[in-house]
Amino acid sequence: MSEIKLYSTLTKTIETFKPIKTGEVGVYSCGPTVYNFAHIGNLRAYVFADTLRRMFEFNNYKVNQVINITDVGHLSSDADEGEDKLEKGAKREHKTVWEIAEFYTNAFKADLLALNIEIPEKMPKATDNIDEMIEIVKVLETKGFTYSAGGNIYFDTAKFPNYYNLQGAKPKDQDLSARVELDQNKKHPTDFVLWFTQHKYGEHAMLWDSPWGKGFPGWHIECSAMATKYLGEHFDIHTGGIDHISVHHTNEIAQSEGAFGHKWVNCWMHNNFVNVKDGEKMAKSSDNFLRLQTLIDADYDPLDYRYYLLGGHYRSVMNFSYEALDGARNARNRLKNMLSGLKNEVAEGKDPILRSELRRAQQEADVNDKYFQLFTEKINDDLNTPEALAVLWSMLGDKVLLPESKIELTKKFDDVLGLKLLDNETDAIPEKVTGLAQKRQVARQNKDWSESDKLREELANLGYEILDREDRYELKKK
Ligand code: AMP
Ligand code: ZN
Repeated sequence: MSEIKLYSTLTKTIETFKPIKTGEVGVYSCGPTVYNFAHIGNLRAYVFADTLRRMFEFNNYKVNQVINITDVGHLSSDADEGEDKLEKGAKREHKTVWEIAEFYTNAFKADLLALNIEIPEKMPKATDNIDEMIEIVKVLETKGFTYSAGGNIYFDTAKFPNYYNLQGAKPKDQDLSARVELDQNKKHPTDFVLWFTQHKYGEHAMLWDSPWGKGFPGWHIECSAMATKYLGEHFDIHTGGIDHISVHHTNEIAQSEGAFGHKWVNCWMHNNFVNVKDGEKMAKSSDNFLRLQTLIDADYDPLDYRYYLLGGHYRSVMNFSYEALDGARNARNRLKNMLSGLKNEVAEGKDPILRSELRRAQQEADVNDKYFQLFTEKINDDLNTPEALAVLWSMLGDKVLLPESKIELTKKFDDVLGLKLLDNETDAIPEKVTGLAQKRQVARQNKDWSESDKLREELANLGYEILDREDRYELKKK
């Protein structure tokens, strides 16, 4: 196996991965705040974490992965301002915060399953780990990293010398000043709340006793406590979206390393955003918000979206469009169709002449090995999924490889890609049908209505109905 190289946000370089414990890897990924459905941008963070996990499994590592559930303390702004998101969800839906948390946690787990994301070893809820959070705050208090103001306990960022290391540089003063204007109790703009007892949004439904009074934890301390509880005071990898670099993860490092007195995480990894078409970040707080269910309702398979994501490198921004998703769907269907053709060939026992030629068999084994090596190199190279997919395509198109080998290699590659390419499905759309539908789309774009009608009829004869949407089409089996 080639060595594993990963990009570290902290050192801003590609590093060779060295596990803390031989053959094992501990990974923590910031989980969802369960006050609303996850959008497809959020889900990129988990497809990325899952691809990372699968890459390690492919390299025979034992993976210990934690994805938490944030069900308290995440305020509307990452800089500890605004209303608790769970309280906001409860008001919106006239439910209790506990009901909201349970409902959206289940919805999140359903999304993970639909995207073929392997369920992590641990999925702790913040509200089940309050004691662990209080313990870290107590240590920070003893070590002089905290101060109390306006009823809340703050982390004093001026006491942590490497505070800006993860984001690379200190932000401009004007960008920081907004944070103190909103919270006059802060000594420095970057200070953040570890424990709230005072909250300007009235009654908070979730409250726990603590040495500082009845209250609730700050969002950042939650991740430090849950990661440390399950992975230890020093672990391998921590992931999240790039929006977490400057505040959430910077604060997680400060409080954890402040409390433990040593390095906490070896490698910080961040996925880039999924934007809506015009370059705007997809966000739960705006109406540009697409859910996985939105795609399913439009007759996409959730794994078409997974294929779409793997077509981009996790560190590149992706501008979502239905055209691109159609491309991913067609590509995945083509792969599935090619593979079911290969399975038929094997079942029918074709190709016996090739198999009996020894020299040819040796050549075949070499080619088989070459594709395996190539795929390993690509996926071990900071999860280069676009190139790993390209290796899969060239392998399936290879003239020397036997169908059995193609199927065997696909099995191994798909253990990493998670696209269920070898699952038997009766509803995969035949390549001929998607080809005709695409031809018709081009005819429509050229306003060639008679060609477009002709193609519609051809599709109907093959048992497919084509439905025109604003800038795309859907195919339905009749
Ligand atoms: P949240 O539920 O808001 O805490 O976010 C869950 C995960 O999604 C975090 O890792 C975020 O960094 C990530 N995230 C948020 N918005 C996007 C987006 N538009 N594209 C990709 N990842 C995102
Ligand atoms: Zn986190």
